Order: sequence, then structure tokens, then C-alpha cells
Amino acid sequence: MTKYIFITGGVVSSVGKGLTSAAIGMLLEARGLKVAMQKLDPYINVDCGTMNPYQHGEVYVTDDGAETDLDLGHYGRFTNTPLSKNSICTTGSIYNEVIAKERRGEYLGECVQVIPHITNEIKEDIHKVATEDVDVVLTEIGGTVGDIEGLPFLEAIRQFALDVGRDNVMYIHVTLIPYLGAIGEVKTKPTQHSVVRLREIGIQPDALACRTRVPLSEEVRDKISLFCNVEKRAVVEEMDVKFSIYEVPIDLHEHGLDQLVVDRLGLKSRKPDLQGWHDMLQVVRNPAQQVTIAVVGKYTELNDAYKSIYEAITHGGIHNKAKAEILKISAQDVAEGNAAQLLSGADGILVPGGFGERGVNGKIAAIRYAREKEIPFFGICLGMQCASVEFARNVLQLSGADSSEFSPKTEHPIISLMPDQEGVQDKGGTMRLGAYPCEIAKGSRAHDAYGRHKIDERHRHRYEFNNAYRERFEAEGMRFSGLSPDGRLVEIMELEGHPWFVAVQFHPEFKSKPIDAHPLFASFIEAALRGRKGRIS
Ligand code: GLN
Repeated sequence: MTKYIFITGGVVSSVGKGLTSAAIGMLLEARGLKVAMQKLDPYINVDCGTMNPYQHGEVYVTDDGAETDLDLGHYGRFTNTPLSKNSICTTGSIYNEVIAKERRGEYLGECVQVIPHITNEIKEDIHKVATEDVDVVLTEIGGTVGDIEGLPFLEAIRQFALDVGRDNVMYIHVTLIPYLGAIGEVKTKPTQHSVVRLREIGIQPDALACRTRVPLSEEVRDKISLFCNVEKRAVVEEMDVKFSIYEVPIDLHEHGLDQLVVDRLGLKSRKPDLQGWHDMLQVVRNPAQQVTIAVVGKYTELNDAYKSIYEAITHGGIHNKAKAEILKISAQDVAEGNAAQLLSGADGILVPGGFGERGVNGKIAAIRYAREKEIPFFGICLGMQCASVEFARNVLQLSGADSSEFSPKTEHPIISLMPDQEGVQDKGGTMRLGAYPCEIAKGSRAHDAYGRHKIDERHRHRYEFNNAYRERFEAEGMRFSGLSPDGRLVEIMELEGHPWFVAVQFHPEFKSKPIDAHPLFASFIEAALRGRKGRIS
């Protein structure tokens, strides 16, 4: 019998529901349970593909090509649960489905309403991830309790307990306990109010994960327990972590949350095996060495826009027992004249993916600097496309060389629209999305890193390397070391004779984990460390 955990959030947004959900998933897996994870997001967009990273953070892509919320990245980094289109559902996707059914006449003349039609559709989406082998489904509800658009989702998860039995369902509410510095006290009232909102809908939380800056006293937990009608052991302190988000599961475990979950749901499980995680944290707390990686991007002032990139750099550091410091550089600030000055502290330079022309010349200037000064360089998606344009302009001397994304009429379209993208009008869900195979040439850096000939990586792009330029690139030392199995699409390129210059059309960052760094990130950081040692000694 599958059990269900629903995670809601209260008081403020960004309270840490995604991390808390991922941490619980990780702890249950460490107990040998099979977990599925899912996010229900109340916005009206059908998926995250059309959302600006400024507002919503990065778009996380799954193997089957869903463009999802960055919380799924947390699920992917903390757990081994497979993520797919079923792992995300929005108001937009639910209404899309219901309206399509209505048009097909599937409701047989009924008046189609929020309850039961929308709520039924939401419940169906929850059931979809509960495949036979799954012990626990963890479903996070986006937004904050009290939001208008979240109501149908809360109603659906309330009904869900009615359908599958209250004992098979656990509601965990993640809430903020603010600390008022002026009086030196924490305040429980916002949490009380937030739980009242949940209880009005008919949801009595079974546990509260209390986000706090300071430890919660026994009195405070007693008070929360009494006013929120939650047993005291289930009022779980979740304090801000000191070094790393990867401390969250250990902290929750020490506060008894996973034991509470298995007790509440009657799950048979072993003691959690957390050794690998502890070993990883040991490196995070006491790194043997340090390395600085510059990320030259368009949204560098925001932590969330390149979330998976930053995490994957951290993982590459952990793999090499090093702390990877990230130097965030706004591409718009970089020019030929100041690249050396802005990037002089960098042991490695990474140019991430992106869309639109803003900052592209700065990225190209940074890549030129990395290429000429032999600083390890890692280009990802648009980063690979910029590296190609840089090489064409400065090595092949093809003036005006560009991507046709930015100069549709350029004489030298080094990067051009993929044929199957011609004429595509809709922006949502129409790129080359999800996992595609790639074959790696033996003896290449990429092959060294992966130790394999065939790989699968996730994509999200419309443009590709223009094959008309392959030979000219190869003649000047650019090697196309990874190609689609039919040889048509360039997936990886690397510069011969450079300490580490690798650019990829896909997004390796989505598959990196703290205890299993992505091989390219591990190899990139290793090269950056080597270069740093060379420079210092
Ligand atoms: N804008 C480029 C394209 O569509 C790169 C996309 C990306 O970096 N994700 O091909």
C-alpha cells in the first residue's frame, strides 16, 4: 500500500518547502524505502518553460523533456527518484487537460466545475506517480497556504485522505518562526494563523517543520503544539544550516522527523544509512583545498537562475575534496579590455546556458580570455554556442560570425536554427528537450571524464552548431568529441592543446549530485585545481 506525504508551506514563500521535501525524500530512501516525488504548482503557466528566470529561477529539465520548477532539481540532487512529466503539475496543465476533456465530450454533458472536475484531475496526477513499487509519494504544494490559486490543490489533497484513508496520508506544514531581534524572542503567532488557514480547509497537519534562525525552546514548542493541535514530538525544529543545504537532512534526522514519518505512516524500514552523506559533509566542512570558478552569465545577481550550475560546481569541488568558490560575473560587465582584470582571480571560467543577445559579447570576451590564457573553460549550451562564435571570429578570422539567434542575416551563421525548428511559432514546450544520446570519441577529454563511449544528457535549445564550419574548426584544433549517434549534431567540442576547454550543447548540471558529481564538473574542477597549483607554485 503506497503512503502519501503532502508538504505545504506557511507564513512566507521561499520558506524552504522544496529543500525540506527533498531532505525527507533522501532520509526515507536512506531507510531503504522507494520514494516518488512531485510538485503541484498553482501558477497558470502550463509549465516553467516560458517563465523568466528572473522571476522564477532556473528551468529544470527532466529526461522526458518536461520544463519544470527548480525544486525538482533539489529532488534530483537529494534522491534517486526518477523525475518526469508526472513529477510536476500546474493549474495551467490541469485546466488544459480538463478543457481538452470537455471539448472531447468526455464529461457527458455535465457542468464542469472546480470541485469535482479540477480536484479529480489533480488527484489523478498524484496517483500517476504512485506506481506499484513506490512506498511513499511525497507531494509538495507550491505557494503559501492562503493563496487564492492554491485552494483547489489544498482541497484536492484534503479529499485525497478521504479516498485512500487518513492513516495512509501525512500532512507536513513547513512554516516560519520569525525571530524579533529587538526583543530577542521568536514569535509563534504567524504559524498559528497559517495552521488555522489549513484547518479551515479541513487539513490538520500531522507535523510542523519550523524554520527558524535560533533554536526553539521547550516552551515555544509546547505553545506551538497546543495552539496548532500538533503533538509536541511533531513540532520539529528546522534551523538555518551553517555550511551547506546538504546539512538539512541530517539536521531533520537529528530532530526525529524521519522516525516520526515512518511511525505515523506505519512504514517498515531499516535504520537510515547516512554514511555516504556524512562523508560528503565532512569534505564540505573541512575542504583540503580551494578553487575559484567564475560564472559569466546574464542572471548572476540571482542565486536561483543558475541553481543547478552552482550546485554542480560545488559537487565538482566536493569530488576533488575542495571548496569551489563561485565568482559571479555579469556578462554585460565584461569586455575585451577588462576581461583580464575581472577574471584574474578565476581558476576556471564557466559560461552557462541562456537566451537572447544581452551579455553575449561579454561571454565571448571571457571565453577568448580563457582560451588565450589557458584557463580551464567549461561552456554549457549557449556557452558552447558562444565558444563557437568566439573561435570563428578570433581564430578563423571570420568577421561578423555569429549565431543566427542574434544576427539572422549574418554572413557566417556558426550557430543556426535546427531544421526541425524552422517555422515553429509556439514558444512553450517546442525546443529540443530532454535526454538524447551522444557518442564520445576515444582519447578525448570528455571520454576521459565519462570513462564511457555512450552517454545520455538533457537538452533545451533551438539552435545548433552549423556543420558547414566543422572542417574549418577542426583544421585549427577544435575537436568535435561528442556527436549524436547519426553524427549530425555536435554535442561536445574541445580545444586541443589547451589545459581544459570543453563545451557541451546539453545541460550536464541537471544530473549532478553532491555524492555523485557529474563527471564533466569533476574533471573541470580538477583541471582548475591543477592550473591554480601551477600558477601559485
Ligand atoms: N538560446 C540557445 C538556443 O536556443 C541556447 C539555449 C540554452 O542555453 N539553453 O539554442
